[in-house]
Amino acid sequence: MILSGATVVTSLDPVRIAARDVCVEAGRIAAEGGGERRDCSGCLVVPGLVCAHTHLYSALARGMPYALEPPQDFTQILQRVWWRLDRALDPDSIRASALVGGMEALLSGTTTLVDHHASPNAVDGSLDVIETALRSLGTRSILCYETSDRDGREVASAGLEENRRFAQRVRKEHPPLARAMIGAHASFTLSRETLQACADAARELEVGVHVHAAEDLVDERDAEVLHGTRVVARLAQAGALDSRALLAHGVHLDDHEIGLAASANAHVVHNARSNMNNSVGRARVAALGPFVALGTDGIGSDMFEESHAAYFRLREDDPGAGPDWPLARLAEGARFVGSAFGERRLGKLETGAPADLVVLDYAAPAPVSESSFPGHWVFGLGSRCVRDVMVAGEWVVRDRRLALLPRRFTGRRQIVHIAQGHARYGPGCGRDVARHRQVVAE
Ligand SMILES: [Zn+2]
Repeated sequence: MILSGATVVTSLDPVRIAARDVCVEAGRIAAEGGGERRDCSGCLVVPGLVCAHTHLYSALARGMPYALEPPQDFTQILQRVWWRLDRALDPDSIRASALVGGMEALLSGTTTLVDHHASPNAVDGSLDVIETALRSLGTRSILCYETSDRDGREVASAGLEENRRFAQRVRKEHPPLARAMIGAHASFTLSRETLQACADAARELEVGVHVHAAEDLVDERDAEVLHGTRVVARLAQAGALDSRALLAHGVHLDDHEIGLAASANAHVVHNARSNMNNSVGRARVAALGPFVALGTDGIGSDMFEESHAAYFRLREDDPGAGPDWPLARLAEGARFVGSAFGERRLGKLETGAPADLVVLDYAAPAPVSESSFPGHWVFGLGSRCVRDVMVAGEWVVRDRRLALLPRRFTGRRQIVHIAQGHARYGPGCGRDVARHRQVVAE
């Protein structure tokens, strides 16, 4: 496969541009090649984008009926919206959510999803359901189950067991597009024993812990009152803080916690839109150091939109922040995924790297160069430009349509509509969706 005629952004951090054909062979960028030639004249080719923290289970929640008093704070948002929704999930709605979320990700140029899943009444096998759905679309993923004591000890044990089972399966079978982490909800819903068990499992299975950390002040207050320490110190004491760990949000981390995370080389995932939506506060992203990636926390998976919002949020306080900042954050997400897959070149379009890439149809009104590309990213480019997407050398989107529709879903007209980019959500939008909304409403 040869992609010809494009301007190729071979690296997002630092930005590197080459005007040459991209050759793909056996799933990787190759120095030379033959076979099918895809005309990409006038297009930009960029590395596939990574959403480093999401919740696919929320994909069907937009506009869902809501009958309770409106939540007034973060805890009430969890109690009245998300924990009600996740308790209503069953294998069918988990599958439908993963398909919808996975389709939208690919159509917006996001090739890897790092998901944090919860379905307390359908724990066993839930990660397999998501893995199968995403594999059928060709989406790369790192999956985990968010272990929590919020639904009792039994569900907490089941959650941990689901993580262990899936991580063992991944270790044994090495599926080409999926990796595992040990998921934990957040310090304030984890007992000492459960957190310790998560950390032990992660160490034993040689994967990282994926946990919400200091998203709201309530997480820090809980850790201080019940455990006499702050969230990141608590994670460190349990042995959950290492270079494979993923800390989502980190809004209320103090300097000592930032130091702990940095010295462990742990990654923090910044979710700017979610933080604003939940009124949890502003993450001190400039103080968090280089190991910061970007996630959506379940608000879709459009990393153009997310990186723009993160940039403008940063600029509100810091007019000196440059447009290369969101690109460096996206590159950091790819570095994290690359280390989980043992692919240090992932996120770069250089010889030997996995061929995860996006072809952008962008009529640049001003020259694109290494110095101007960040400005084009923030002020011009968007997911509307995504024409083709490739994951591990396979086309997953061609001409703005999904290339690999799961066969057994092709009969479902509404799912196909969503796949074709005509997402419509309403009462007549598919049996799974309607039934799921009904369950949540009740
Ligand atoms: Zn989250």
